[in-house]
Amino acid sequence: MKAYERLLRYAAYDTQSDHHSTSYPSTAKQWVLLETLKDELLGLGLKAEMDQYGYVIGTLPGNAGAAVPTVALIAHVDTSPDASGAHVKPRIVKRYDGRPIVLDAVKNIVLDPAVFPWLRDNVGHDLIVTDGSTLLGADDKAGVAEIMTAVERLVADPSIKHGTVKIVFTPDEEVGQGTTHLSVKAVGADFGYTLDGSKVGEIAYENFNAAGVTAVFTGKSVHPGSAKKKMLNSIRLAAEFDALLPLSDRPELTEKYEGFNHPTELHGTCEKTTAEYIVRNHDVTRFERQKQDFRNAAAYLNQKYGDGTCALDIREQYQNMRTLLEHRMEIVEFALGAIRKNGLEPIVEPIRGGTDGARLTYMGLPCPNLGTGGYNYHGPYEYASINEMDQAVDVILTLLTDIAASTRS
Ligand SMILES: [Zn+2]
Repeated sequence: MKAYERLLRYAAYDTQSDHHSTSYPSTAKQWVLLETLKDELLGLGLKAEMDQYGYVIGTLPGNAGAAVPTVALIAHVDTSPDASGAHVKPRIVKRYDGRPIVLDAVKNIVLDPAVFPWLRDNVGHDLIVTDGSTLLGADDKAGVAEIMTAVERLVADPSIKHGTVKIVFTPDEEVGQGTTHLSVKAVGADFGYTLDGSKVGEIAYENFNAAGVTAVFTGKSVHPGSAKKKMLNSIRLAAEFDALLPLSDRPELTEKYEGFNHPTELHGTCEKTTAEYIVRNHDVTRFERQKQDFRNAAAYLNQKYGDGTCALDIREQYQNMRTLLEHRMEIVEFALGAIRKNGLEPIVEPIRGGTDGARLTYMGLPCPNLGTGGYNYHGPYEYASINEMDQAVDVILTLLTDIAASTRS
Protein backbone atom coordinates (compact mmCIF):
# COMPACT_ATOMS: atom_id res chain seq x y z
CA MET A 1 0.00 0.00 0.00
CA LYS A 2 1.17 3.54 -0.72
CA ALA A 3 1.56 6.07 2.08
CA TYR A 4 -1.09 8.41 0.62
CA GLU A 5 -3.68 5.62 0.62
CA ARG A 6 -3.12 5.28 4.33
CA LEU A 7 -3.39 9.05 4.81
CA LEU A 8 -6.77 8.99 3.04
CA ARG A 9 -7.88 6.19 5.35
CA TYR A 10 -6.65 7.85 8.56
CA ALA A 11 -8.11 11.24 7.55
CA ALA A 12 -11.59 9.71 7.90
CA TYR A 13 -11.05 9.45 11.67
CA ASP A 14 -11.87 12.64 13.57
CA THR A 15 -8.98 12.89 16.06
CA GLN A 16 -9.15 16.55 17.05
CA SER A 17 -7.60 17.18 20.49
CA ASP A 18 -8.99 19.66 23.03
CA HIS A 19 -7.14 22.29 25.09
CA HIS A 20 -9.84 22.47 27.75
CA SER A 21 -10.12 18.76 28.48
CA THR A 22 -8.83 17.30 31.74
CA SER A 23 -8.79 13.70 30.47
CA TYR A 24 -5.93 11.92 28.73
CA PRO A 25 -6.05 11.62 25.79
CA SER A 26 -7.90 14.93 25.73
CA THR A 27 -10.64 13.50 23.48
CA ALA A 28 -12.03 9.94 23.51
CA LYS A 29 -12.22 9.84 19.70
CA GLN A 30 -8.41 9.62 19.48
CA TRP A 31 -8.63 6.12 21.01
CA VAL A 32 -10.39 4.85 17.89
CA LEU A 33 -7.53 5.60 15.50
CA LEU A 34 -4.87 4.59 18.05
CA GLU A 35 -6.60 1.21 18.47
CA THR A 36 -6.82 0.83 14.67
CA LEU A 37 -3.10 1.58 14.31
CA LYS A 38 -2.22 -0.96 16.98
CA ASP A 39 -4.25 -3.58 15.09
CA GLU A 40 -2.59 -2.58 11.82
CA LEU A 41 0.87 -3.11 13.37
CA LEU A 42 -0.27 -6.49 14.71
CA GLY A 43 -1.61 -7.31 11.24
CA LEU A 44 1.85 -6.61 9.80
CA GLY A 45 3.23 -9.21 12.21
CA LEU A 46 4.74 -6.79 14.74
CA LYS A 47 4.43 -6.81 18.49
CA ALA A 48 2.32 -3.82 19.46
CA GLU A 49 0.71 -2.54 22.61
CA MET A 50 -1.43 0.38 23.65
CA ASP A 51 -1.06 1.63 27.22
CA GLN A 52 -3.59 3.27 29.55
CA TYR A 53 -2.84 6.72 28.09
CA GLY A 54 -3.30 5.69 24.47
CA TYR A 55 0.35 5.52 23.44
CA VAL A 56 0.83 2.80 20.84
CA ILE A 57 4.29 1.23 20.81
CA GLY A 58 5.19 -1.35 18.17
CA THR A 59 8.42 -3.31 17.80
CA LEU A 60 9.99 -4.53 14.58
CA PRO A 61 12.98 -6.71 15.55
CA GLY A 62 16.25 -5.95 13.78
CA ASN A 63 17.89 -8.27 11.28
CA ALA A 64 21.37 -6.74 11.19
CA GLY A 65 23.00 -7.87 14.40
CA ALA A 66 22.70 -6.88 18.04
CA ALA A 67 25.15 -3.97 17.88
CA VAL A 68 22.86 -1.85 15.70
CA PRO A 69 21.10 0.91 17.69
CA THR A 70 17.35 0.78 18.22
CA VAL A 71 15.63 3.65 16.44
CA ALA A 72 12.20 5.08 17.29
CA LEU A 73 9.91 6.52 14.60
CA ILE A 74 7.33 8.82 16.16
CA ALA A 75 4.18 10.54 14.90
CA HIS A 76 1.05 11.98 16.50
CA VAL A 77 -2.52 11.02 15.62
CA ASP A 78 -4.39 14.08 16.88
CA THR A 79 -5.27 17.10 14.76
CA SER A 80 -5.29 20.76 15.74
CA PRO A 81 -8.18 22.29 17.75
CA ASP A 82 -7.85 25.31 15.39
CA ALA A 83 -10.00 23.75 12.65
CA SER A 84 -12.58 21.01 12.35
CA GLY A 85 -11.28 17.51 11.70
CA ALA A 86 -14.74 15.95 11.32
CA HIS A 87 -16.05 14.62 8.00
CA VAL A 88 -12.81 15.38 6.17
CA LYS A 89 -13.37 14.93 2.44
CA PRO A 90 -9.95 14.71 0.80
CA ARG A 91 -9.68 15.23 -2.94
CA ILE A 92 -6.77 14.26 -5.18
CA VAL A 93 -5.51 16.82 -7.69
CA LYS A 94 -3.59 14.86 -10.33
CA ARG A 95 -0.39 16.34 -11.81
CA TYR A 96 -0.83 19.80 -10.29
CA ASP A 97 -0.55 22.46 -13.02
CA GLY A 98 0.54 25.40 -10.84
CA ARG A 99 -2.74 27.29 -11.01
CA PRO A 100 -4.98 28.22 -8.06
CA ILE A 101 -7.00 25.24 -6.77
CA VAL A 102 -10.61 26.09 -5.92
CA LEU A 103 -11.49 24.22 -2.72
CA ASP A 104 -14.96 25.70 -2.24
CA ALA A 105 -16.36 27.78 -5.12
CA VAL A 106 -19.37 29.07 -3.13
CA LYS A 107 -17.32 30.35 -0.20
CA ASN A 108 -14.45 31.32 -2.51
CA ILE A 109 -11.85 29.28 -0.63
CA VAL A 110 -8.91 28.93 -2.99
CA LEU A 111 -5.49 27.34 -2.54
CA ASP A 112 -3.50 29.97 -4.40
CA PRO A 113 0.27 29.91 -5.14
CA ALA A 114 0.23 33.72 -4.89
CA VAL A 115 -0.58 33.26 -1.18
CA PHE A 116 1.26 29.95 -0.66
CA PRO A 117 4.30 30.22 -2.97
CA TRP A 118 5.67 26.78 -1.95
CA LEU A 119 2.85 25.30 -4.08
CA ARG A 120 5.10 26.10 -7.07
CA ASP A 121 7.55 23.44 -5.86
CA ASN A 122 4.71 20.93 -6.14
CA VAL A 123 3.92 21.50 -9.82
CA GLY A 124 3.62 18.10 -11.50
CA HIS A 125 2.91 16.38 -8.19
CA ASP A 126 -0.32 14.63 -7.26
CA LEU A 127 -1.75 16.59 -4.32
CA ILE A 128 -4.32 15.79 -1.66
CA VAL A 129 -6.45 18.83 -0.76
CA THR A 130 -9.53 19.48 1.41
CA ASP A 131 -13.02 20.63 0.43
CA GLY A 132 -12.34 23.92 2.22
CA SER A 133 -14.46 23.14 5.29
CA THR A 134 -11.97 21.18 7.45
CA LEU A 135 -8.27 20.65 7.86
CA LEU A 136 -6.76 17.62 6.09
CA GLY A 137 -4.92 16.08 9.02
CA ALA A 138 -1.65 15.46 7.15
CA ASP A 139 -0.32 16.95 10.40
CA ASP A 140 0.46 14.37 11.49
CA LYS A 141 -1.35 11.50 9.77
CA ALA A 142 1.09 11.85 6.85
CA GLY A 143 3.83 10.98 9.35
CA VAL A 144 1.80 8.06 10.71
CA ALA A 145 1.12 6.81 7.16
CA GLU A 146 4.79 7.05 6.14
CA ILE A 147 6.03 5.20 9.21
CA MET A 148 3.44 2.45 8.71
CA THR A 149 4.30 2.15 4.99
CA ALA A 150 8.05 1.99 5.71
CA VAL A 151 7.42 -0.77 8.26
CA GLU A 152 5.28 -2.67 5.73
CA ARG A 153 8.14 -2.51 3.21
CA LEU A 154 10.67 -3.75 5.78
CA VAL A 155 8.40 -6.67 6.70
CA ALA A 156 7.86 -7.56 3.04
CA ASP A 157 11.56 -7.50 2.13
CA PRO A 158 13.90 -9.17 4.66
CA SER A 159 16.88 -8.36 2.42
CA ILE A 160 16.66 -4.76 3.73
CA LYS A 161 18.97 -4.76 6.76
CA HIS A 162 17.99 -2.64 9.76
CA GLY A 163 18.23 -2.52 13.53
CA THR A 164 15.26 -2.87 15.85
CA VAL A 165 12.63 -0.25 15.04
CA LYS A 166 10.25 1.12 17.65
CA ILE A 167 7.07 2.63 16.25
CA VAL A 168 5.44 5.19 18.52
CA PHE A 169 2.04 6.79 17.88
CA THR A 170 1.00 9.47 20.36
CA PRO A 171 -2.12 11.50 21.17
CA ASP A 172 -2.44 15.20 22.12
CA GLU A 173 0.63 16.73 20.48
CA GLU A 174 -1.42 19.70 19.28
CA VAL A 175 -2.40 20.62 22.83
CA GLY A 176 1.20 20.40 24.05
CA GLN A 177 0.70 17.12 25.90
CA GLY A 178 2.11 14.63 23.39
CA THR A 179 4.84 13.35 25.69
CA THR A 180 3.25 14.00 29.10
CA HIS A 181 2.78 10.34 30.02
CA LEU A 182 5.16 8.73 27.55
CA SER A 183 7.76 6.49 29.12
CA VAL A 184 11.05 6.77 27.25
CA LYS A 185 12.05 3.57 29.03
CA ALA A 186 9.03 1.76 27.58
CA VAL A 187 10.00 2.99 24.11
CA GLY A 188 13.47 1.58 24.69
CA ALA A 189 15.21 3.23 21.74
CA ASP A 190 18.72 4.73 21.53
CA PHE A 191 17.43 7.70 19.57
CA GLY A 192 14.51 8.56 17.34
CA TYR A 193 12.97 10.80 14.71
CA THR A 194 9.60 12.52 14.78
CA LEU A 195 7.95 12.54 11.34
CA ASP A 196 6.09 15.78 11.90
CA GLY A 197 7.69 18.42 9.68
CA SER A 198 6.53 19.92 6.40
CA LYS A 199 8.46 19.68 3.11
CA VAL A 200 10.27 16.37 2.53
CA GLY A 201 14.01 16.90 3.05
CA GLU A 202 13.42 19.16 6.02
CA ILE A 203 15.33 18.31 9.15
CA ALA A 204 14.92 20.33 12.32
CA TYR A 205 17.09 19.84 15.36
CA GLU A 206 16.97 23.32 16.83
CA ASN A 207 14.04 24.84 18.65
CA PHE A 208 13.47 27.68 21.08
CA ASN A 209 14.49 27.78 24.70
CA ALA A 210 11.25 28.80 26.31
CA ALA A 211 10.08 30.40 29.54
CA GLY A 212 6.79 31.83 30.80
CA VAL A 213 6.71 35.01 32.89
CA THR A 214 3.94 36.23 35.18
CA ALA A 215 4.28 39.80 36.39
CA VAL A 216 1.88 40.99 39.10
CA PHE A 217 1.66 44.75 39.69
CA THR A 218 0.23 46.13 42.91
CA GLY A 219 -0.99 49.72 42.93
CA LYS A 220 -2.85 51.96 45.38
CA SER A 221 -6.53 52.36 44.66
CA VAL A 222 -8.02 55.69 45.70
CA HIS A 223 -11.22 57.41 44.56
CA PRO A 224 -10.13 59.13 41.35
CA GLY A 225 -11.80 62.36 42.49
CA SER A 226 -9.40 62.68 45.41
CA ALA A 227 -6.44 60.76 44.02
CA LYS A 228 -3.88 63.51 43.73
CA LYS A 229 -0.47 62.35 45.03
CA LYS A 230 -2.11 59.19 46.41
CA MET A 231 -3.14 56.87 43.60
CA LEU A 232 -0.81 54.35 41.97
CA ASN A 233 -2.65 52.67 39.09
CA SER A 234 -1.33 49.14 38.51
CA ILE A 235 -2.57 49.18 34.89
CA ARG A 236 -0.14 52.06 34.26
CA LEU A 237 2.58 50.12 36.07
CA ALA A 238 2.09 47.23 33.65
CA ALA A 239 2.34 49.63 30.71
CA GLU A 240 5.52 51.18 32.13
CA PHE A 241 6.98 47.72 32.69
CA ASP A 242 6.28 46.64 29.11
CA ALA A 243 7.87 49.82 27.77
CA LEU A 244 11.08 48.98 29.66
CA LEU A 245 11.54 45.76 27.63
CA PRO A 246 13.67 46.08 24.46
CA LEU A 247 11.58 47.14 21.49
CA SER A 248 13.53 44.86 19.15
CA ASP A 249 12.50 41.71 21.08
CA ARG A 250 9.01 41.53 19.62
CA PRO A 251 7.62 38.65 17.52
CA GLU A 252 6.41 41.07 14.86
CA LEU A 253 10.00 42.29 14.40
CA THR A 254 11.85 38.95 14.53
CA GLU A 255 12.47 35.87 12.40
CA LYS A 256 14.82 32.87 11.98
CA TYR A 257 17.23 32.82 14.95
CA GLU A 258 15.94 36.03 16.53
CA GLY A 259 14.16 35.52 19.85
CA PHE A 260 11.28 37.48 21.32
CA ASN A 261 9.26 38.47 24.38
CA HIS A 262 5.54 38.28 23.81
CA PRO A 263 2.74 39.46 26.11
CA THR A 264 -0.03 36.86 25.91
CA GLU A 265 -2.47 38.10 28.53
CA LEU A 266 -3.21 41.24 30.54
CA HIS A 267 -5.96 41.78 33.04
CA GLY A 268 -6.28 44.13 35.94
CA THR A 269 -7.78 46.95 37.93
CA CYS A 270 -6.30 50.05 39.52
CA GLU A 271 -5.36 47.93 42.53
CA LYS A 272 -3.87 44.89 40.85
CA THR A 273 -2.81 43.91 37.31
CA THR A 274 -1.40 40.65 36.04
CA ALA A 275 0.57 40.34 32.80
CA GLU A 276 1.63 37.06 31.18
CA TYR A 277 4.55 36.83 28.78
CA ILE A 278 6.35 34.14 26.88
CA VAL A 279 10.12 34.41 26.32
CA ARG A 280 11.78 32.61 23.40
CA ASN A 281 15.30 32.31 21.98
CA HIS A 282 17.38 29.57 20.33
CA ASP A 283 20.56 30.91 21.93
CA VAL A 284 20.92 30.17 25.65
CA THR A 285 23.02 33.28 26.39
CA ARG A 286 20.54 35.61 24.71
CA PHE A 287 17.66 33.74 26.36
CA GLU A 288 19.23 34.37 29.78
CA ARG A 289 19.73 38.03 28.86
CA GLN A 290 16.03 38.35 27.96
CA LYS A 291 14.99 36.91 31.32
CA GLN A 292 17.39 39.36 33.00
CA ASP A 293 15.65 42.22 31.15
CA PHE A 294 12.44 41.22 32.94
CA ARG A 295 14.17 41.15 36.32
CA ASN A 296 15.78 44.52 35.67
CA ALA A 297 12.44 46.09 34.72
CA ALA A 298 10.82 44.69 37.91
CA ALA A 299 13.73 45.92 40.06
CA TYR A 300 13.44 49.39 38.52
CA LEU A 301 9.71 49.66 39.35
CA ASN A 302 10.28 48.35 42.88
CA GLN A 303 12.97 50.93 43.43
CA LYS A 304 10.87 53.74 41.98
CA TYR A 305 7.51 52.92 43.65
CA GLY A 306 8.49 50.72 46.59
CA ASP A 307 9.11 47.06 47.31
CA GLY A 308 6.35 44.72 46.22
CA THR A 309 5.17 46.92 43.35
CA CYS A 310 6.12 44.25 40.83
CA ALA A 311 6.32 40.53 41.69
CA LEU A 312 7.85 38.34 39.02
CA ASP A 313 7.54 34.61 38.44
CA ILE A 314 9.74 33.12 35.68
CA ARG A 315 9.08 29.46 34.74
CA GLU A 316 11.22 27.37 32.40
CA GLN A 317 9.05 25.67 29.74
CA TYR A 318 11.28 23.79 27.31
CA GLN A 319 14.82 23.87 25.94
CA ASN A 320 16.59 23.86 22.61
CA MET A 321 17.29 20.23 21.68
CA ARG A 322 20.41 21.34 19.81
CA THR A 323 22.20 21.86 23.13
CA LEU A 324 22.00 18.09 23.71
CA LEU A 325 22.16 16.96 20.07
CA GLU A 326 25.47 18.79 19.60
CA HIS A 327 27.02 15.85 21.45
CA ARG A 328 25.15 13.33 19.27
CA MET A 329 25.49 14.91 15.83
CA GLU A 330 25.67 11.50 14.12
CA ILE A 331 21.88 11.32 14.65
CA VAL A 332 21.50 14.45 12.52
CA GLU A 333 24.19 13.31 10.05
CA PHE A 334 22.33 10.03 9.37
CA ALA A 335 19.24 12.01 8.41
CA LEU A 336 21.17 14.50 6.25
CA GLY A 337 22.80 11.58 4.44
CA ALA A 338 19.51 9.74 3.88
CA ILE A 339 17.90 12.90 2.50
CA ARG A 340 20.78 13.49 0.06
CA LYS A 341 20.85 9.86 -1.07
CA ASN A 342 17.24 10.29 -2.16
CA GLY A 343 18.19 13.19 -4.42
CA LEU A 344 16.97 15.92 -2.09
CA GLU A 345 18.78 18.94 -0.73
CA PRO A 346 18.41 18.97 3.08
CA ILE A 347 16.52 21.96 4.44
CA VAL A 348 17.80 22.81 7.91
CA GLU A 349 15.54 25.36 9.56
CA PRO A 350 15.35 26.32 13.23
CA ILE A 351 11.90 25.66 14.69
CA ARG A 352 10.33 28.83 16.08
CA GLY A 353 8.50 26.89 18.77
CA GLY A 354 8.88 23.59 20.57
CA THR A 355 8.31 20.02 19.45
CA ASP A 356 7.59 16.71 21.09
CA GLY A 357 11.03 15.73 19.84
CA ALA A 358 12.59 18.55 21.86
CA ARG A 359 10.87 17.31 25.01
CA LEU A 360 11.85 13.71 24.23
CA THR A 361 15.46 14.79 23.70
CA TYR A 362 15.49 16.15 27.25
CA MET A 363 13.71 13.01 28.51
CA GLY A 364 16.65 10.98 27.19
CA LEU A 365 15.50 10.13 23.67
CA PRO A 366 17.34 12.41 21.19
CA CYS A 367 14.84 13.15 18.47
CA PRO A 368 15.18 15.50 15.46
CA ASN A 369 12.12 16.19 13.30
CA LEU A 370 11.78 15.22 9.62
CA GLY A 371 9.52 16.56 6.85
CA THR A 372 6.54 14.53 5.62
CA GLY A 373 5.31 16.35 2.50
CA GLY A 374 2.40 18.07 4.24
CA TYR A 375 1.82 21.83 4.09
CA ASN A 376 -0.33 24.69 5.51
CA TYR A 377 -1.14 22.90 8.75
CA HIS A 378 -4.04 23.62 11.11
CA GLY A 379 -6.57 24.89 8.59
CA PRO A 380 -8.57 24.23 5.41
CA TYR A 381 -5.62 25.13 3.14
CA GLU A 382 -3.72 22.11 4.39
CA TYR A 383 -2.53 19.80 1.62
CA ALA A 384 -0.08 16.95 1.06
CA SER A 385 2.08 16.00 -1.91
CA ILE A 386 1.72 12.31 -2.74
CA ASN A 387 5.14 12.40 -4.45
CA GLU A 388 6.80 13.85 -1.36
CA MET A 389 5.07 11.31 0.87
CA ASP A 390 6.60 8.51 -1.24
CA GLN A 391 10.00 10.21 -0.92
CA ALA A 392 9.56 10.50 2.85
CA VAL A 393 9.06 6.71 3.03
CA ASP A 394 12.27 6.24 1.03
CA VAL A 395 14.13 8.61 3.35
CA ILE A 396 13.00 6.55 6.37
CA LEU A 397 14.17 3.31 4.73
CA THR A 398 17.55 4.78 3.71
CA LEU A 399 17.97 6.17 7.21
CA LEU A 400 17.38 2.81 8.87
CA THR A 401 19.64 0.88 6.48
CA ASP A 402 22.41 3.51 6.74
CA ILE A 403 22.33 3.39 10.55
CA ALA A 404 22.56 -0.42 10.40
CA ALA A 405 25.36 -0.37 7.81
CA SER A 406 27.45 2.20 9.71
CA THR A 407 27.26 0.19 12.92
CA ARG A 408 28.14 -3.13 11.33
CA SER A 409 31.18 -1.90 9.44
ZN1 LIG B 1 2.22 17.95 14.02
